[in-house]
Amino acid sequence: MAQRACRGTIGATAGVQHDLTIHSQKATHSMEVAPSALDLKQSKRLYERAQHCIPGGVNSPARAFDSVGGTPLFIERAEGAYMEDADGHRYLDYVGSWGPMIFGHAHPDVVGAVQEQAEASTSFGAPTEIEIDVAELVCDLVPSADKVRMVNSGTEATMSAARLARGYTGRDKVIKFEGNYHGHGDFFLIAAGSGPMTLGKPDSPGVTEGNAKDTLLAPYNDIDHVQRLVEAHADEVACIIVEPIAGNMGCIPPEPGFLEGLRELCDLHDIVLIFDEVMTGFRVAPGGAQERFGVTPDLTCLGKIIGGGLPVGAYGGRKEIMDYVAPTGPVYQAGTLSGNPLAMRAGHATLSKIAEEKDEVYPDLEEFGAALESGMRQNLEALGLDYTINRVGAMMSLFFTDQPVVDQESAQTTDTDRYAAYFHGMLEKGIYLPPSQFEAIFFGTKHDEEALEATLQAQRTVLERIH
Ligand SMILES: *Cc1c(COP(=O)(O)O)cnc(C)c1O
Repeated sequence: MAQRACRGTIGATAGVQHDLTIHSQKATHSMEVAPSALDLKQSKRLYERAQHCIPGGVNSPARAFDSVGGTPLFIERAEGAYMEDADGHRYLDYVGSWGPMIFGHAHPDVVGAVQEQAEASTSFGAPTEIEIDVAELVCDLVPSADKVRMVNSGTEATMSAARLARGYTGRDKVIKFEGNYHGHGDFFLIAAGSGPMTLGKPDSPGVTEGNAKDTLLAPYNDIDHVQRLVEAHADEVACIIVEPIAGNMGCIPPEPGFLEGLRELCDLHDIVLIFDEVMTGFRVAPGGAQERFGVTPDLTCLGKIIGGGLPVGAYGGRKEIMDYVAPTGPVYQAGTLSGNPLAMRAGHATLSKIAEEKDEVYPDLEEFGAALESGMRQNLEALGLDYTINRVGAMMSLFFTDQPVVDQESAQTTDTDRYAAYFHGMLEKGIYLPPSQFEAIFFGTKHDEEALEATLQAQRTVLERIH
């Protein structure tokens, strides 16, 4: 089998910032990170050059490999499920630009659409028909979306949705969950305070106490805690924002009743329920986690897949809330490049494939996921290991802990040194995993039988070596 290693560099996103210790962990590996057996001459040279002109050499922190150590790979090209780095190594990619590449890299439909648009100019700053086409697709696919506004990133989507919820309700406070990531907006970069009912505190220099005082934190999957928070702050809570499947502390599914409980609480107290589906949207079902679990939020944030690999985010939801945004409503939100035609073409190529082929795409992803999961369980069993695997559809995590992982606290029981060793072992075998234990792996329709075999075989060897 050709030399492969997997590594996804491209769209690093979630990552090192936010509320967690989890995301800001640096490598202090007691277990030696084995010097890579790969010859990474070019990547090393580029990384060194990048350090002089880009902070840390990267444009998004998770790309720097801080939590696994070693040199980040510089990528030159990718096609289907495989990426090639600057030194000519080929890797099977389980990052997929951190989510967007559900149909694989350089899909001809996306490439063709972008090329065609480029020739008709890349931006006008005026309305275009393709924006309507994409908005219609989103509204058809996503249950909660009556109307949708395009922005340029997931961060913009969540910031805008929270502002809208605050404007619409006339309230200030936001409830979020420990270990959930909603981009780098100031009032989301908040860590839990010391007592269970205390307010949050800034989790990054530059975030003010003023921001922190309006953000309340609850443990993921703990509906009783949320209920107590809501009752303690009656009439102050504008919105509850949640990753309906957590993906930024590794993959953690919602426990039965959790999302339903949030919906009920929001209904009872006139709170806007926001699902941050930047990661899960179009990934776990055509209509995202809300379709998969049958719970409809008031507002939904989208990103990643919606842009087909170009920078796009969006927020949408109930008509009366969305009409509260400028120019129809008083809540201001704008963007010079929002709805950019190049990005819309890539997004449209991707979403229209989803709409047309969803009856094959999602069962196929489920089938690959189930086979990967069961193969990994067999590997673990054969080696007498009882690590935890969480999976929902085409997102998944292997945690190096024997405890069930249901929230941030249990996620932190994982052995991150062992993950780092696993990551580098897999990389040497040509399998590119996310460079952090606390990022989910993603796969797409180009991950085939051969990819599956290669992954499981590599995993068996690597686990045997490191455990
Ligand atoms: C990636 C991500 C974001 C941030 O999106 P960016 O495009 O990186 O700004 C927000 N929320 C979730 C759930 C994400 O996974």
